[in-house]
Amino acid sequence: MSQASRPRRIGVFGGAFDPPHQAHVALAQAALSQLDLDELRILPTGDAWHKARRLSPAPHRLAMARLAFEGLPGAVVDERELRREGPSYTIDTLEALALEMPGAEFVLLMGGDQWAAFTGWHRWQDIAAHARLCVLARPGSAQALPAGLAPALRLELPPMDVSATALREALADGHLSSEEQARLLPEAVARYISTHGLYGRPQPGLTAPPA
Ligand code: ATP
Repeated sequence: MSQASRPRRIGVFGGAFDPPHQAHVALAQAALSQLDLDELRILPTGDAWHKARRLSPAPHRLAMARLAFEGLPGAVVDERELRREGPSYTIDTLEALALEMPGAEFVLLMGGDQWAAFTGWHRWQDIAAHARLCVLARPGSAQALPAGLAPALRLELPPMDVSATALREALADGHLSSEEQARLLPEAVARYISTHGLYGRPQPGLTAPPA
């Protein structure tokens, strides 16, 4: 079907993005090109009900997400989950987007760790009814399909052994070499982290998030 006659195809990619790293950017790039998306909504999560730790302040995560993704044609950073009070549920976001974009097709993107946990998500059956699921394999994550779900789309991309947790720890310990930093973090995000003294590397006077 030509682009003119098929429904708009919208990718939806949520995450804490604390910080956004190169696997996130690679996943977004691969989704835009391999899935022929008209638009990719990037949604930094608000109060992520499934994350045990406190996240960095929303303005910092939003600013970093913009720096990481906004250079990708078709990617749009969407603030709605950061503005939402209470838990951030993907189904609420999908239902809101479906109302705003009648007739659009949605593809929900996630890494293998989230896929493995998917049937624990709030109203996961409704999510699967609203969106195709698209998974990027992640080193160390089980790939079993939850029973009763349509097979997920797969992104063709070599697995990347990078996580925000490992990055935060390495930054806090001062163990991240400049080569590793350049490989794992978008350059503008690395600069932002350093300027604002995030992740345990405080630089007095430079910690205020943007207004
Ligand atoms: P943390 O280590 O703090 O849990 P994270 O690296 O998993 O963070 P998130 O912001 O939680 O990053 O992830 C957003 C989305 O990106 C999730 O669907 C996650 O599975 C996916 N993702 C993150 N890193 C990878 C990776 N290396 N390979 C595949 N998917 C990834």
